[in-house]
Amino acid sequence: MAVRTVLRIGDPRLRQVSEPVTSFDTPELHALIGDMFDTMAAEDGAGLAAPQIGVLKRIMIFGVESTPRYPDVEAVPTTVLINPEYTVVHDAVQGFWEGCLSVPGMRGYVERPAGIRYRGLDQFGNPVEREASGFHAIVFQHEYDHLDGILYPDRLADRTQFGYVDELAAAGII
Ligand code: ZN
Repeated sequence: MAVRTVLRIGDPRLRQVSEPVTSFDTPELHALIGDMFDTMAAEDGAGLAAPQIGVLKRIMIFGVESTPRYPDVEAVPTTVLINPEYTVVHDAVQGFWEGCLSVPGMRGYVERPAGIRYRGLDQFGNPVEREASGFHAIVFQHEYDHLDGILYPDRLADRTQFGYVDELAAAGII
């Protein structure tokens, strides 16, 4: 297991559409997932997608017990999702000041559908299916976007609602 380098916005690999995984429960896949969890923990992230460490596969992990990055959000179950899909079940939008390990030091206000149903497979090939709302739904959709080469600044509700964490905090905005 190892902490891997997180690619930053500007790296073209973050803009590619990742490929589905075809082999499950392999040593290579377990090692990759282990590295992703180590990297997410080292960076205090709420989630991580494989393309963020330069692996263009449709794999995401997420989970929140408590993170200093988002002190006010509810817990999200620790999850591995491979080849995920989702549908919107509650299309009212919820807004959140999102951050991203690939856009370090910054936050932007993004609105996304408030309720979703997602499904995918875990690293053993077992199905995972859940309904999600709140921060859980936000994290899923944020990570899913990475698999299609989309970063949250592409989804700003208002382009002026974007900036450095310390400046936004100093101004009382976040
Ligand atoms: Zn991200």
